[in-house]
Amino acid sequence: MVIGRVAVLALGLAAGAWAAPPPAMLDVAPEAVDRAPLLPADVGWLDRPAPGWKHLQTEHFVLHHDQKIFAAKVARLGEQFYAAISADLPNLRDRAAPARSHIFVFRDPRDWQSVVAGTPGLEPWTASFVRGQVMYLQETGTGVADKMETLAHEMTHLVFNRFLPVRLPLWLNEGLAEYYGEFAYRAAKGMGQSRRDAFRPLRHWTPLADLFAATDYPADPAEVARFYATSKYLVGYLLLKQPRDRWDAFFGRAAAGEPALPALLETYGWADVAAAEQDFARFAR
Ligand SMILES: [Zn+2]
Repeated sequence: MVIGRVAVLALGLAAGAWAAPPPAMLDVAPEAVDRAPLLPADVGWLDRPAPGWKHLQTEHFVLHHDQKIFAAKVARLGEQFYAAISADLPNLRDRAAPARSHIFVFRDPRDWQSVVAGTPGLEPWTASFVRGQVMYLQETGTGVADKMETLAHEMTHLVFNRFLPVRLPLWLNEGLAEYYGEFAYRAAKGMGQSRRDAFRPLRHWTPLADLFAATDYPADPAEVARFYATSKYLVGYLLLKQPRDRWDAFFGRAAAGEPALPALLETYGWADVAAAEQDFARFAR
């Protein structure tokens, strides 16, 4: 999920990931769309007369859209993000392949309000989200970079749903999505992003004990942005300030379904959450 939007680095954004040729795209007829991975609610959206969906297919995705220019951009960058994020999961395979994930692209805010209102369990602040093999992407934000950061965030969730046999803890899932949201678009464009710009001092963060315990988003909307920021900064700290082999060990255990907190404390040599928070504070401040 992403809230209304808020370098080439070790994680993922390896140089080779961007060297691939542009992905092939094909317009497909409605009757040619594979509906197998869709839930009834997704089919409901696909069958709505408005906004008059057209369908664009790439290797891993089928997009439903009403404007080809933006959809083609989403398709092209979506495949690039898929390549970069999955390159960071070397020991895992795409369990959904060759089935395609679906991406609905909403441009009309009124349609988006219907999506949010009609989807049980969705927070009112939701700007885009992934459910299973389906991404609901709202074209929102002022510039292309904003929009593509949202795509990179949601693509992280979609790739994890394809590759991971388990669901990661909320902080790790959202922290990585925010991390890719921050860096993936710039990397795709061949632009760097300084770590200092990406991680300016964080004045307030969610206490790590609360962060680790969270299985749902904070009820207080004011806490939500803080929860996302803390998740992103913690992932950034682990990836940028700690040796990479520790990340590989920790993430491997979490992705295999081990309880993440004991794996985290053990891998990074922290006696308890307070010790972790002490080190984290030096990075975040
Ligand atoms: Zn998210």
